[in-house]
Amino acid sequence: MTTVTRFAPSPTGTLHIGGVRTALFNYVYAKQNKGKFLIRIEDTDAERSSREHEENILKGLADIGINPDEPPVRQSERSDLYKLAAEKIIESGNAYWCDCSKETLDEMRAEQEAAGKKPMYDGRSRNLGLKRSNATVLRLKTPKDGELVFHDLVRGEVIFQNSELDDLILLRSDGSPTYHLCNVVDDFSQGITSVVRGEDHLSNTPRQIHIQQALGYPPLEYAHLPMVLGPDKKRLSKRNAVTSLQDYFDEGYLESSMINMLARLGWSKGEKEIFYLDDLIMDFRMQEVQKAGAIFDQAKLDWINNHHLAALPFEDFKNRLIPFLAKNEIDYSKNNNHNNIIEALRSSKPTLQGVSDDLVPYFSKVGPYNEKAADKFLKGSKPVLEYIRRKLNGLEVWDEGSIDAALKEAQTALSLPTPKLNQPIRIAMTGSTHSPSLGLTLSLFNLDEVNSRIDAALDYLSKAN
Ligand code: GLU
Repeated sequence: MTTVTRFAPSPTGTLHIGGVRTALFNYVYAKQNKGKFLIRIEDTDAERSSREHEENILKGLADIGINPDEPPVRQSERSDLYKLAAEKIIESGNAYWCDCSKETLDEMRAEQEAAGKKPMYDGRSRNLGLKRSNATVLRLKTPKDGELVFHDLVRGEVIFQNSELDDLILLRSDGSPTYHLCNVVDDFSQGITSVVRGEDHLSNTPRQIHIQQALGYPPLEYAHLPMVLGPDKKRLSKRNAVTSLQDYFDEGYLESSMINMLARLGWSKGEKEIFYLDDLIMDFRMQEVQKAGAIFDQAKLDWINNHHLAALPFEDFKNRLIPFLAKNEIDYSKNNNHNNIIEALRSSKPTLQGVSDDLVPYFSKVGPYNEKAADKFLKGSKPVLEYIRRKLNGLEVWDEGSIDAALKEAQTALSLPTPKLNQPIRIAMTGSTHSPSLGLTLSLFNLDEVNSRIDAALDYLSKAN
């Protein structure tokens, strides 16, 4: 049988990290089994769902290369299907009408809670033979005893006691179908074979299996994925992490890095850390997914992104960087040496935004010096700056090698520890102590520019005194 998976988001918010991870695992599982991956928009909650969120979710997935094999379907457009299924359950005798009022249900709950029992519908309308009316809901006759057992690819055998499950509502009193009914009917009508979703849905599974059985549908394969946790080990949320995929793209994390990071949320393959989508399709095993919650580690994502950025051919890297340069108003094309500058700085930070920020002083005048750095290294460095300025102006060849040699000679002549020599020059050139090796940094500018930056630093020092 061909494997068919689905990602079934409720469009009540933008695409978040946990959702993308679920979509990715569904996609990879379908592809590695030469099957199909589908998307179903679960928008029956009209008040909380929006088309805007739906578009955001579909675009986010498309951005990382996760496209469904068929056009997505929307539950809000399929209510006839659900009503037909409800009729089928009524005919089979597996459901009954219930007219318990809200007050009755509240009372029932209060009594159960007072007696220390789990609150659940007690089935009191089950044998009353009530008729359909605008005051009745349709409930599923759930077996009262016995166990419901299913196999989960991640969790192994999962057992629920039927006595713990109450007779859930299939149709509301206005005739509208409930979430569980829609979910089950869609999985069947879309030909889904494998349900891969977050562990928060685990307790829904026995209820949904009972509906499937009442409808005579074939069983499905399940995989409930561990929750994605923040660094505080609480469920990932806006409070403990950036949860929106778009926010990561806006910072300059690559799509492939996000896929790599998401794949590692609950799954690993020995020591291997770097994965692209194709590797995953080859290597991923649902059975190897861990049960314990998976922590979203920002430092790991940075490390991964650094790696993916470094692996890009230079032209690709540059093209990806250009929008971030524009955000910082860097007009790189005016500088003939821009390719060398970009190449020298390309791994200075783990994100494109960070690299772009570091590039600012190479394309425009140095802004105010980093105060701490200036206090520590620039103060008292007048003789060093003047010496170096002279030395550099005496060079016959202006390249990294000869600049390095000049710096070395200066260090010996002045007998200074490296930071005392290098840091003042670095601050003069870039405003901070953060830059590539000094010879390379200097070689990225022409001599006029070096002179003018050293002069500006000397000027700063004369004013500071
Ligand atoms: N619509 C559910 C959600 O967004 C997913 C249901 C499912 O995968 O079965 O959490």
